[in-house]
Amino acid sequence: MTTVTWTIVVGVKQVPDADEVGIDPDTGRLDRASAPAVMNPPDRGALEAALSIKDVVDARVVAMTMGPPMATPVLEEAIAMGCDDAVLITDRAFAGSDTWPTSLTLARAAEQLGADIVLAGEETTDSSTGQVPPGIAAHNGWAQLTYVEAVEPRPEENRLVATRDVEGGHERVAADLPVVVAVAYGEFDPRPAPLHRKLYAENDFEPIEWTAEDLDIKDEVGLDVSPTSVGGMETVQPVERKGEVVETADDLAEQITEVYS
Ligand SMILES: Cc1cc2nc3c(=O)[nH]c(=O)nc-3n(C[C@H](O)[C@H](O)[C@H](O)COP(=O)(O)OP(=O)(O)OC[C@H]3O[C@@H](n4cnc5c(N)ncnc54)[C@H](O)[C@@H]3O)c2cc1C
Repeated sequence: MTTVTWTIVVGVKQVPDADEVGIDPDTGRLDRASAPAVMNPPDRGALEAALSIKDVVDARVVAMTMGPPMATPVLEEAIAMGCDDAVLITDRAFAGSDTWPTSLTLARAAEQLGADIVLAGEETTDSSTGQVPPGIAAHNGWAQLTYVEAVEPRPEENRLVATRDVEGGHERVAADLPVVVAVAYGEFDPRPAPLHRKLYAENDFEPIEWTAEDLDIKDEVGLDVSPTSVGGMETVQPVERKGEVVETADDLAEQITEVYS
């Protein structure tokens, strides 16, 4: 272990279980009530990345979620996995917030927690914009690393080195702290939560609670300041795809010539 202590903050969001959620045929919107609420699966990878850094660097890992009080179970799950603390950011003022005020809220919370590293999933399974991690970095003027597959902490340099998935290959990038990291889905295998941590999380743990006023952003969140407007939504039928297996490159060339001639 090193003598430096990092604060690592992990964004976790509660989403409807993607395997069970239905779509309201009249509005084309997700029928959230049709599915149980779970932790956004990519966020488990972000938690694992955070805890793997804590395995080698003296660190405090704090999970944060912006959502209604019913989102508390995702924080309990994070605590059970090994987080030291968790923050529930909840307020009626947040209703209707799009990714801009959501990012601002999480950015202010990360700043208030004294984050050296913010970890997040690549995207959520319900809104799937992937805008929130870069938004946090932009609001705070911090570095950002996206599509991260591996992390190498360098506490003696106050830097984080990451391997990023880029089209056609990988790149290794070093970022000065503070940095916001969005982890690539499926690259960090989440550790199981031990029973004693589960019991502690469910029975004894209480998250810190912050409102918009606590973060001094009361007039900067909610529907009125959200620049996105949804013009319409529709469900589409999957396109039927055809495929044929060919044995050799010559057969493939023949097929391509046939299709395009
Ligand atoms: C016009 C508009 C109106 C909306 N109105 C509402 C509304 O009224 N009510 C409502 O509930 N939602 C609303 N939303 C959705 C809400 O803005 C998004 O859920 C939120 O901004 C996160 O975006 P995302 O899910 O695409 O995150 P992404 O950018 O895909 O998420 C990437 C990662 O960021 C982190 N993250 C994202 N969101 C959170 C969070 N809340 N807490 C902690 N970490 C997080 C997670 O690690 C996640 O894996 C609205 C969206 C739009 C576009």
